[in-house]
Amino acid sequence: MNPRRVLLKLSGEALAGPNKTGFDEATVKEVARQVKISVDAGVEVGIVIGGGNFWRGRTSNAIDRTKADQIGMLATVMNCIYVSEIFRCAGMMTQILTPFECGSMTKLFSKDRANKYFEKGMVVFFAGGTGHPYFSTDTGIALRAIEMEADCILLAKAIDGVYDSDPKINPEAKKYDEISIQEVIDKQLGVIDLTASIMCMENRMPLAVFSLNEKDSIANAMQGKINGTIVTA
Ligand code: UDP
Repeated sequence: MNPRRVLLKLSGEALAGPNKTGFDEATVKEVARQVKISVDAGVEVGIVIGGGNFWRGRTSNAIDRTKADQIGMLATVMNCIYVSEIFRCAGMMTQILTPFECGSMTKLFSKDRANKYFEKGMVVFFAGGTGHPYFSTDTGIALRAIEMEADCILLAKAIDGVYDSDPKINPEAKKYDEISIQEVIDKQLGVIDLTASIMCMENRMPLAVFSLNEKDSIANAMQGKINGTIVTA
């Protein structure tokens, strides 16, 4: 399959590279280089970024969960501002949309607005998750991919696909080339969280999981070449 519109998820930790926190410029520049190849080839690219390089709602039990999640959502906005700027330096046009007002820093999300930007060949960053606490950026990307009628969700991860058990713990772990989202849910394989998995299943949104660290993996995935696992819906 040659996708027309894809949504790419980068975890916050992936942006941090070896630093584990904050931003690793070399990692983000490499992502930008690969995304540009796809944008130049006419693929419409939406990006969702996690916040784990700064903060996750579950990082602290000391404060109210809603407030902790608000910090997490703002972390995703910071990440999108940074990555969007690196993308611009690499020669792409970008816009950042959030489900809540961030003054002049981002624009308020609407489907029509996002479609307008895609039509102009811009990379659209969907920052701020769903805008609600108790959700995640997994749910955020499922929601936006379904709403924006993307062809698939691309998950660039530290691991190169979906395994039947954790390969770090079990050397016999088997990697799937293809698996259904129903099986992912039944076997609790944790590709994306359960809420997001059910949304993808109900709305027939396929996913592809591959390694962020493999050469040209993002550019290849955006051309339908997945060297990882395809999760069918
Ligand atoms: N978050 C939220 N609602 C959303 C999306 C994100 O409350 O719709 C918060 C939540 O606290 C989460 C944090 O933002 O822990 C960062 O997102 P996530 O954990 O998904 O980032 P990742 O682990 O992928 O870096």
